[in-house]
Amino acid sequence: MPLDPVRSIAIVGGGTAGWMTAATLAHHLKGLGCHIRLVESAEIGTIGVGEATIPPIISHLASLGIDENDLIRKTQATFKLGIEFKDWVQPGHSYIHPFGPTGFQRNGVDFTAYWLRCREAGVAPPLEAHSITAVAARRIKFMRPVDLANSPLQHITYALHLDASLLAAYLRTHAEAHGVTRTEGKVRNVALRPNDGFIESITLESGERIEADLYIDCTGFRGLLIEGALKAGYEDWSRWLPCDRAMAVACERTGPLSSHTLATGREVGWQWRIPLQHRVGNGYVYSSHFVQDEAARDVLLGSLEGRALREPLALRFTTGRRRLSWSKNCVAIGLSAGFLEPLESTGIHMIQRAALVLLQFFPDRRFRQAEIDGYNKRLAFEYERVRDFLVAHYSQTRRQGEFWRYCREMELPDSLRERLELFRGCGRIIRTDAELFTERSWFFVLLGQNVLPESHDPLTEDVPAADMQQLLERITEVVARCAATMPPHQDFIAQHCAAPAS
Ligand SMILES: Cc1cc2nc3c(=O)[nH]c(=O)nc-3n(C[C@H](O)[C@H](O)[C@H](O)COP(=O)(O)OP(=O)(O)OC[C@H]3O[C@@H](n4cnc5c(N)ncnc54)[C@H](O)[C@@H]3O)c2cc1C
Repeated sequence: MPLDPVRSIAIVGGGTAGWMTAATLAHHLKGLGCHIRLVESAEIGTIGVGEATIPPIISHLASLGIDENDLIRKTQATFKLGIEFKDWVQPGHSYIHPFGPTGFQRNGVDFTAYWLRCREAGVAPPLEAHSITAVAARRIKFMRPVDLANSPLQHITYALHLDASLLAAYLRTHAEAHGVTRTEGKVRNVALRPNDGFIESITLESGERIEADLYIDCTGFRGLLIEGALKAGYEDWSRWLPCDRAMAVACERTGPLSSHTLATGREVGWQWRIPLQHRVGNGYVYSSHFVQDEAARDVLLGSLEGRALREPLALRFTTGRRRLSWSKNCVAIGLSAGFLEPLESTGIHMIQRAALVLLQFFPDRRFRQAEIDGYNKRLAFEYERVRDFLVAHYSQTRRQGEFWRYCREMELPDSLRERLELFRGCGRIIRTDAELFTERSWFFVLLGQNVLPESHDPLTEDVPAADMQQLLERITEVVARCAATMPPHQDFIAQHCAAPAS
């Protein structure tokens, strides 16, 4: 059968999702004669939050040919080695979920299994001390990985904190340089083909009519095409992720430039602190069932380290995902496809994933149902696994108060319940397929949340605990020595990628 290729793509929406998708598709579809056009409305604007990322963004940006230092300078970015959860499990408690690999594998048995065995025997060094990124984050250090065999320095894994509006602007310049055309305008109407319900055209308020083979809905929470026109449906996950509001505000920085995101537990949710070169982003994520907006605003403004730079921005959301993020000839990417909540900074990552998975299943104009189903299944799986990871943070705490009691007592998704049961036995974590968070991430978070296995892996019995203790202690010494050689985060940025003074 002759190919009937997609010749035109209309992306509606120019937030991070719109421009990241445009840049990704422009890069991968170059030379195929497919015209990409993006429509956005300055009048509506973008959500303007979404400032912490996770490590896969680094290779994604590189794959698009983006120079990392240039991006950092132009988006006031800083480096991120992980997330510190402070006062999260209970007031006064702190742990880090660090990025990157830690430890070793021995005869197929992971370091974490040996660590648990030593812990049970009361001889394990602190878990964090084995991770170069956790130790560096605590010491406010940073450098990129270096190619040194057997050194923890080769395992430095990082992401970025970025100014969300500057990121969208940067990606726009990049996408336009690669052939994407932009139209300023507000979509007023979406017309469907009478015979099959596919999108036929969109009409702007100016009266201009735009037709395309494939439509990408990046209109944010509105979901103008995927929901407004195609009624794809939404799976509400607020029974598991009950926060539905955020209050965000930037403030002046007062201390040194930290190299991690801070997530501080609050009475009804949590507060983020994201350090950028020119300011600090802060936000209180909370549940409107348990606290009024005014009270949340007071908590946020009362806990800033420096002068607030503007009035707090109030945001509302319903955690969950679009039932079908690809329906007919429309794919929803970004907030229009779902939103879990910012706890592990996965929003921008899910945009990248959606664009890359779309390329894996890229259609021709026949839009075969098997491709659409394959895409939806893949994305549903990835969203569900991220959801479970976030719910694990909320459900395993000792904090007092109605909100946290609700989180502790809620019925968990089956997939998470099974994972926790398995872990509570001998500390086993089995990662399925290409789910986002690694065994190591789960391990650090579950241990951080004080979820303790009853026993240890029987396969670790081949080495006496005392020998293993010595090995673990040696690792922590090497990690500490390596971290000591790293420069302060601020100095690294000053040397390699400082933004011009504004
Ligand atoms: C409180 C909060 C904190 C977050 N923190 C993080 C984080 O730390 N890390 C992370 O990775 N993600 C985070 N996210 C998610 C992140 O903000 C989003 O994934 C990202 O900004 C993408 O948004 P978007 O482009 O889908 O939507 P938006 O930014 O809302 O953009 C929508 C676009 O659609 C356009 N539009 C809408 N209607 C029309 C119309 N009728 N006609 C024409 N154009 C239209 C608008 O003009 C705009 O350009 C956070 C989200 C929230 C709510």
